[in-house]
Amino acid sequence: MTPEEFRRYGHRVVDAIADYRAGVAARPVHPPIEPGSVRAQLPAEPPQDSESFEAVLADVEQVLLPGLAHWQHPKFFGYFPSNGELSSVLGDYLSTGLGVLGITWESAPALTELEERVLDWLRQMLGLSSAWRGVIQDTASSSSLVALICARERTTAFAGVQRGVDQGSAPLVVYISAHAHSSVEKAALLAGFGREHLRKIAVDASYALDAAALKRAIRDDLAAGRRPCAIVATTGTTTTTAMDPIAACARLARELGLWLHVDAAMAGSAMILPECRALWDGIEGADSLVLNPHKWLGAAFDCSTYYVRDPEHLVRVMSTNPSYLQTSADGEVTNFRDWGIPLGRRFRALKLWCLIREQGVRGLQSRLRRDLENAQWLADQVRALPHWRLLAPVSLQTLCIRHEPPGLSPEALDRHTLTWLERLHASGSAWLTPAQLEGRWMVRISIGSIPTERPHLTQLLTDLQLAVR
Ligand code: PLP
Repeated sequence: MTPEEFRRYGHRVVDAIADYRAGVAARPVHPPIEPGSVRAQLPAEPPQDSESFEAVLADVEQVLLPGLAHWQHPKFFGYFPSNGELSSVLGDYLSTGLGVLGITWESAPALTELEERVLDWLRQMLGLSSAWRGVIQDTASSSSLVALICARERTTAFAGVQRGVDQGSAPLVVYISAHAHSSVEKAALLAGFGREHLRKIAVDASYALDAAALKRAIRDDLAAGRRPCAIVATTGTTTTTAMDPIAACARLARELGLWLHVDAAMAGSAMILPECRALWDGIEGADSLVLNPHKWLGAAFDCSTYYVRDPEHLVRVMSTNPSYLQTSADGEVTNFRDWGIPLGRRFRALKLWCLIREQGVRGLQSRLRRDLENAQWLADQVRALPHWRLLAPVSLQTLCIRHEPPGLSPEALDRHTLTWLERLHASGSAWLTPAQLEGRWMVRISIGSIPTERPHLTQLLTDLQLAVR
């Protein structure tokens, strides 16, 4: 494609995205779709000769768009908000279009230096001290893996990277809440701790990690000759947005020499609001922290930010230094390839930079405050409805609800929950996520899509009542 053709079709693509965003509310949030039906519309073999880009754009419209769930829809309340604010989408275009790779500082100096600057902006926005330094990773899953590898290496004085992981007779142990995200469990397994040495600590009545149970588990492991290595606390668990007690975890970690990693993938964005920061009180006592601006904050996927207090340790664990990557600037610059797993790094800072500059801190704060108010408003409405229950505190923007008509056995109630949700989804009018809480099905409403306003929640209330009729 020549630059002139790119200009022509690029404008068409931008128009298509602008039209999609402007008109998304008129689409069913999740169209009914049979598995395999999109694949069946795509040729099984690649074209041997060049096709017109017109044909590609037509297939996007006719084949792909009808086969998508619409995450940017105002009535998308599933999983978590994955907001791609349009200014940040433009930043992502720039990143792809410039086509530069940050494998060393020298390979794309501005890529590294913008990332350093923007992550320091975000640090300030979150109210974190200047002891933290950040890097952009692809996802929280990668960040948590990096954190647990660093924890392992600190506890073993680099024996893991030197001699390989040997859990032997004094195995390392990781402590997470029973409600920690599956990515944390996966990270612990990939980092070589082994399922047997992953302790899922009980939660309290608010579904937050129970610090007393954590302390007991650590003491039991010490008494048995095992080596407690890391605690992963979550600020905003996936099921209920529970807030693990970071200060208590930090105290234990400090006393006993454990690494504390905080997974704030979803809820970390709320910390740009000073009034929310009590929810992660004690954060300065953590060793590492992940939050995903590609969730609620509005940076187009993917943009996960990982902050550490000891970058030298991170670099010591992650760095390789082949001759073909050495440069004369190495002593004076940051080489982010040594701050995570991939060597090749995209210019992701651009989308965060575009987002923050276009919205301003105040703009981002006011959208998040809108969502918090909407969540409290909806919680009040649900409480007032007969037979509807809120099952967990609404600490931020997620509601856990269940419709509980009298006289149903727990199994019948599970069937009722999944049936009304399926009915609601089939109507195309809203999208929510089912999840199990204390072994029983309930439904999560995750508020925070950029276009979601109060009238959409009023409609959702009507949808819910129609679905259970
Ligand atoms: N941690 C929490 C608390 C989450 O809510 C999620 C996403 O749902 C993740 C981790 C995983 O995020 P990612 O997809 O960036 O790996």
